[in-house]
Amino acid sequence: MKPVAVLSAVAVLFSLLLPVFWGQERPEASPVTVRSDDQITLTVRSGDTIETTTLAEHLPGVLAGEMPALFEIEALKAQAVAARTFILYRMSHHTDAHPDEDICDDPNCCKAFLSIDDMKTHWGDHFDEYYAKMLSAVSDTDGEYLRYGGNPIQAVFHSSSAGKTLASADLWNDCPYLLSVDSPETAADVPDYVTQVVLTPEEFQAVCQEAYPDLAFSGEPANWLGESVLNDSGRVESSTVCGTAIPGSQMRTLFSLRSSAYRLEYTDTGNFQFTVTGYGHGVGMSQYGANVYAKNGYGYEDILAHYYPGTELVSE
Ligand SMILES: [Zn+2]
Repeated sequence: MKPVAVLSAVAVLFSLLLPVFWGQERPEASPVTVRSDDQITLTVRSGDTIETTTLAEHLPGVLAGEMPALFEIEALKAQAVAARTFILYRMSHHTDAHPDEDICDDPNCCKAFLSIDDMKTHWGDHFDEYYAKMLSAVSDTDGEYLRYGGNPIQAVFHSSSAGKTLASADLWNDCPYLLSVDSPETAADVPDYVTQVVLTPEEFQAVCQEAYPDLAFSGEPANWLGESVLNDSGRVESSTVCGTAIPGSQMRTLFSLRSSAYRLEYTDTGNFQFTVTGYGHGVGMSQYGANVYAKNGYGYEDILAHYYPGTELVSE
């Protein structure tokens, strides 16, 4: 073999071995695929109507339906990412409620949605200003979503918390990124932050016995209540009524309480009184908490990292 041929053979062999030395995968050398909202097509059910649209067209209406337009832009951007993430999650996990469509516009099933006409009715003279804000929050975070273990997360959120958010494990299932974290909102930040529900003993008994027919109500109403157990977030884990521990989340449903962060007492007026703080299930991002953080200078990335710990913000 001629020297030139030997050199060529060595060069070829060396180039073949390079991936072994440097590793087969070199992420910095591969092009990053950024998917923008206008490249993502989804189907949306609205009543009996099914529409095919893009995330770019749909997300501003979701944002308008889910968060007050007066909120800080960084809170709106955090909400845009959370809503986009939720939709991406649903696109790969269709719900039984509409197995053939990605999402719907029922806030109790998927996400609320306001059409342009809805927004004009809702915002009146502020339409141009607020609509521009929604478009900015979506386009400034174009394609960005939260990921854990390689998949879009379940980016659940709620209106306001009582000092801390609720860990998913205390309400639904254990989830590594839906933990209890601090949330800064107070009565100064949130309308109707503290609310009360008052019932006569007869009303209180009737509601409890509807769900628990075997509860033995007897004697003085003042003696019906036992201890309430709190979870790590300060919400009620269970309230004991006539010796039976009823989950706080169920008490919330039974008495239409705005949250399970409540204090239940029998008062001097001879009534049962719930004093309730915050609004919503309490898991994931608090919207009013996000707004307070935004007012204090947090960017949307900081807000999302706080409320969904351990997740990564990506756009590929
Ligand atoms: Zn739905």
